[in-house]
Formats: sequence, C-alpha cells, structure tokens
Amino acid sequence: MSGMKAQSMKQLSVLINGGGMVGAAAALALAQKGVDVTLLEPKPPVADTNTDPDWDLRISSVNNSNWEWLLTLGMGDYLRQQRIFDYQQLTVTSLGGQSLSFHANEAGLNKLGVMVENNALQLALWAQLRTLNNVHLLTEESLDKLDVQAKTAVLSQGDRLNYDLLLGCDGANSKVAELSGFNYRGWDYDQRCLLANVSLEKPIEPETWEVFRPQGPYALLPLTEQQACLIDYGIRDDINRLERDKKVLEAHLKTLFSAHIGDFRLDKSASFPLQRKHAKSYVKAESIVLMGDSAHSIHPMAGQGVNLGFADVRCLIDALQKGSQRSALSQYESKRQRENAKMMRMMDAIQFGWRSNNPIMQLATTASLKVAGAPWVKRWLLQQAVGE
Ligand SMILES: Cc1cc2nc3c(=O)[nH]c(=O)nc-3n(C[C@H](O)[C@H](O)[C@H](O)COP(=O)(O)OP(=O)(O)OC[C@H]3O[C@@H](n4cnc5c(N)ncnc54)[C@H](O)[C@@H]3O)c2cc1C
Repeated sequence: MSGMKAQSMKQLSVLINGGGMVGAAAALALAQKGVDVTLLEPKPPVADTNTDPDWDLRISSVNNSNWEWLLTLGMGDYLRQQRIFDYQQLTVTSLGGQSLSFHANEAGLNKLGVMVENNALQLALWAQLRTLNNVHLLTEESLDKLDVQAKTAVLSQGDRLNYDLLLGCDGANSKVAELSGFNYRGWDYDQRCLLANVSLEKPIEPETWEVFRPQGPYALLPLTEQQACLIDYGIRDDINRLERDKKVLEAHLKTLFSAHIGDFRLDKSASFPLQRKHAKSYVKAESIVLMGDSAHSIHPMAGQGVNLGFADVRCLIDALQKGSQRSALSQYESKRQRENAKMMRMMDAIQFGWRSNNPIMQLATTASLKVAGAPWVKRWLLQQAVGE
C-alpha cells in the first residue's frame, strides 16, 4: 500500500445506511483507518438491562476468521461475555444416518467459531463507535432521497449530506437499493425457521450439529453448557400450527431432540420467514455499494449470512487500501459477487438435495457425505467452517 493511497482513503467521507452487525462493523473498521463516517440507523441497539441468564433468540455463529477480525476492531472490551460461547465441533448428519464431523483441532485452532447474541455484538460495536471522534451517529433521521449524480443524500428532516461513498448496509429490504435502482434475483423458500431457546437437564458438548430430513434440517446451537438454541426448519403452515400452542411445540421439539440431548425446558421461541435474494450488481455510479443482507439474503442452514457480510466489509476495506475508489469498487463487486453466489449455489444444492423425495437425489446427497470423508474435501469444508 503506498502512502498516497492511505492518504486518499483517509480523505473519504463515507455515509452508511443501516447500523446492524454489518453496518456497525463497516463503520468501525473504516473509522479506525481514519475515514470520516456518518452512520444512519433509526433503531440503534438497546442496552441490555436484562440480567437473567436467558439469551435472546437472534443468535449467530460467527466463524473464527471473522471473530478474530472483529476482535482486532477493539469491540471485545464492550462485549457481554455471558453472550458468547466458543464451539469446537460441527457435525452434519444425513437422512440415512451418515455423519461428518469437524473439530477445531483439525484446523490447528482452539475453536471453530463463536455463538454470539446479535444484540450483544451490535451493542459492543456501537459502544466502540461512540468513543470515536470521526464517527457521527444519526439515529433521529432516516434516508429519504438520493441525488446519485451529486452524491447527496436527503434525510427525513430535510438535511442534505454529501458523500464520496454510500454503503447500503440496511438489510434485505434496503432503502439504498430501492432509491438507487438495484435489481435482485430470488425467491421465497415457503419455509420458516423456528428458533427455540431451551434449558437442558444435562450438560452438552461445545458442538453445533445439524440433521437433514426431506422437509428441511433440524439443528442445535450450544449457548452455554446447559442452554441451547434448537432450530427446526419446516413448511410455513406446519411451523405456524406448532407455534399456536406452547405445549404442542415443546412436545414436538422433545420428539426431535430428546434422543440427542436428553430432557429440556422450552424457555422462548419465535420463527422467521426464509428467502433467497441476490443483487444483480453490488455497485452503482462508482459511489454506492451494497453489503451484507442488502446484497444477499441466504438460507441460514449453514450459518453463513452475517459471515458473508463481514467478508464483504473486509474485502472492500482491503481494496480501498490498495487502490483508487473506482478500482476498489470494481474489485469488490467482482470478488464478493462471485464468492457469495458460490455459497448461495451450494446452499441451494444442499437444500434441494436433502429435501428431495427423489430417491436418486437422496442417494446423491448421502453419497456426497461419504465423499466428504475424503481428506481433501473434508479439509475444504473445514476451511469454509472457520472462514479461511
Ligand atoms: C433465523 C436466522 C438465523 C441466522 N443465523 C445465522 C448464523 O448463525 N450465522 C450467520 O452468519 N448468519 C445467520 N443469519 C443471518 C444473519 O442474521 C444476517 O445475515 C445478518 O443479520 C445481516 O446483517 P446486516 O447488518 O447485513 O442486516 P440486518 O441485520 O438486517 O441489519 C440492517 C440494519 O439496517 C437498519 N435499517 C433498515 N432499514 C433502514 C433504513 N431505511 N434506514 C436506515 N437503517 C435501516 C435496520 O434497523 C438494521 O439495524 C441468520 C438469519 C436468520 C433469519
């Protein structure tokens, strides 16, 4: 990186719309490079006054590589330690009972990644952002209009902000994408993801696992030794029916999970619709960029969504450090679009293969697990799990 380029990056004025996990991490990483950052977020994270041991339902598995990067941003000091849990092992099991496990040792690491409460991570990033003079947090206004040619954003109360770079980190229904005319490809999966936090009678290992079935997988994310988030993917109507009665839901979860983890108590649950959406382009007018879920919403079965978002941020900052804004954005777009599309295709193939009632597809997916026992395939899959 030449001194000239570092200097020019510092002179950038960046406006970020959306301060979720991806937008807040982007704001922090850019601000720490000396960039002047304005972050617009109408719903800033609310301080967690909840001292009870229960986790929130919105949890992410963040891979080791992204977690190490987040820690270099300095937000670790602000993280509520009871809302992070390291996990060492990941296991996937097919309908036919074939299993494939990865242990952190195999990658020479002491963990594959962490389970973290989304709110706790967002709060920690915001706490760190509040300490920086070159960050302006705007929570009372929102983005109303864009003058793309003049690189000016008009806010809800009429203020006008000029920017060199506008980052759309405003999630799957991105306002930035809408105002600047980005197009998407995608579909609704007609599925819901049911999340249930439970307290366990017996301790469990720091292992996350997933079992595939034709209607979608079920999975466990460990939260502490005796708490876990249980996940059940299913057809929309089936999940809606289960959610109507807590006793029915608890009985259903016990039928699925008790054989794996013993008895447990259902603490809380909620479900989320699933969609697949991918922006046809990530960059407009050499100044507007989509990142995170505003660029790609992916099936959560492999816990990759926010990990892809952090990889977007890391890629853009790296490219900006190495070259002009124009070349950085073009590099960002081609690299991240290719990588994210690859991951989405893989999710679709797994999703289609595992759900299919077609015996040939089932045979093929079962065979793929057998093949995955081959050392090089396993090594590649492990790299995806740790994010390297
Ligand atoms: C059930 C479920 C489980 C998941 N589990 C995992 C997992 O284990 N691992 C993983 O990597 N990913 C997981 N994901 C995906 C992950 O949650 C998302 O990829 C991630 O939240 C995307 O972050 P983001 O900051 O891009 O978008 P969001 O989290 O959607 O944040 C967008 C932000 O923009 C703000 N905003 C919205 N509109 C505007 C506007 N007009 N102006 C300004 N701000 C605006 C919002 O208030 C919000 O703060 C899961 C998703 C689901 C649904």
